[in-house]
Amino acid sequence: MFKLPDLPYPHDALEPTMSDKTLRFHHDKHHAAYVKTLNELLEKAGKEPSSLEEVIIEAARGGEKKLFNNAAQAWNHTFFWTAMTPRKTEPAGELFDAITQSFGGLDQLKAAFVAEGVGHFGSGWVWLLAEKGGALSVKSTHDAEDLVTQADVTPLIVCDLWEHAYYLDHQNDRKGFLEAWFDALPNWDFAAAQLAAAKGQSAAWRHPAPVSGSAAQAA
Ligand code: MN
Repeated sequence: MFKLPDLPYPHDALEPTMSDKTLRFHHDKHHAAYVKTLNELLEKAGKEPSSLEEVIIEAARGGEKKLFNNAAQAWNHTFFWTAMTPRKTEPAGELFDAITQSFGGLDQLKAAFVAEGVGHFGSGWVWLLAEKGGALSVKSTHDAEDLVTQADVTPLIVCDLWEHAYYLDHQNDRKGFLEAWFDALPNWDFAAAQLAAAKGQSAAWRHPAPVSGSAAQAA
């Protein structure tokens, strides 16, 4: 079974962009519910996967929609929390160069990222991703869809476009949320490590592996 990973910071650490109240619902209720349903579906199917990535890829391949949705949402949320930080970070080194090369600069990347998120109809995610050669692009995915099933791209950062991510703090102002989010919360140090992975210099981030047997009982 998969455990709900703790947030890498206190619930109030991302204020004012995302409030303590939002994170208490978003992590402790929404994210937790995806993990709970994922575990129930795996148990019912008698599956004991070795990784969440494996669950996502096999569920996508087999057309197991409910399993895919809950597994992918579990992955997306853990990645989302990991790719944010309350510390102020800046793109540096090769990441800075890649942003300049692909977008012209950080301001242009922000404009592209916000426009993609605002233009995305309904629920989903907006990603900054790297291709194998290191070229960057912005892309949105619908609902639970993620990039795990695409072997040739590596996500650097992501922002949650579901209303539960911003409605308590920003109501219907998705644009205002995305602008504030982009200025304050991306973990550019994490993004730089993911870019190095995209270029084959290291391993990309993976979701924590499932715990089994007695470890799961004790959790
Ligand atoms: Mn969410």
